[in-house]
Amino acid sequence: MEQRQKIYEGKAKILYETDDPGLLIQYFKDDATAFDGKKKGIIRDKKMVNNKISERLFKELAAAGIRTHMVERMSDREMLVKRLKIIPIEIIARNVSAGSLSKRIGLAEGTPLPRPIVETYYKSDELGDPLLCDEHVFMLELATPEQLNAMRDTARKVNQVLTDFFAERQIRLVDFKIELGTEVGAKGDLNNGDILLGDEICPDTCRLWDMATDEKLDKDRFRRDLGKVEESYAEVARRVCGVV
Ligand code: 5GP
Repeated sequence: MEQRQKIYEGKAKILYETDDPGLLIQYFKDDATAFDGKKKGIIRDKKMVNNKISERLFKELAAAGIRTHMVERMSDREMLVKRLKIIPIEIIARNVSAGSLSKRIGLAEGTPLPRPIVETYYKSDELGDPLLCDEHVFMLELATPEQLNAMRDTARKVNQVLTDFFAERQIRLVDFKIELGTEVGAKGDLNNGDILLGDEICPDTCRLWDMATDEKLDKDRFRRDLGKVEESYAEVARRVCGVV
């Protein structure tokens, strides 16, 4: 698969075109940003670790019937993925109150939620990814009601599969963010509207707490200057993939 032009560079990854118009190479960067890019740093070997963890989780989800953009991991830093038209909504599923939910509604961090919740945020760095209600989604024509339902259903299913998967590895899945998109066909036009899971799922996009100690094993270690960032990512990789 030949790597061609760069078509996107984000905070955590770069996307390159390939000789197949329906496939892209997703390159994982070591850069770490938080708070909409206001805090920057480098997490050593992050790309390799996140790529391996994402691969393992996407495989687990595919086995449960959830369609993802992953074709295969090509190298330590690269994953071959299907080209998607990303829907500009970040879907967040939560099992335990933390982060922005705790701030917004005053629930102490660590409070288990009576049942999982799914939220929608506008994917816009400029606006700081604000929370959206359905009326906003439809007014802005970000997704149709059918697409929004499909996205929420996928998030619930992903939550179920990953909660069990992490629990077997003594990790509590507190919350996570996913991005979804519609598949772009080989001719470059939109396919039949099937919604696939895109982006990555890793300690950058999830809150992962050790089940016994509640120790944070995710990006909050970087965001909150808790130290042991690389060690925690490596620990997740060890439990999830059996590698360091
Ligand atoms: P919160 O809304 O509490 O800040 O985040 C909820 C969950 O979604 C956390 O697991 C967090 O890591 C993830 N998340 C939310 N927004 C982003 C984002 O813009 N980038 C990344 N990497 N993760 C996010």
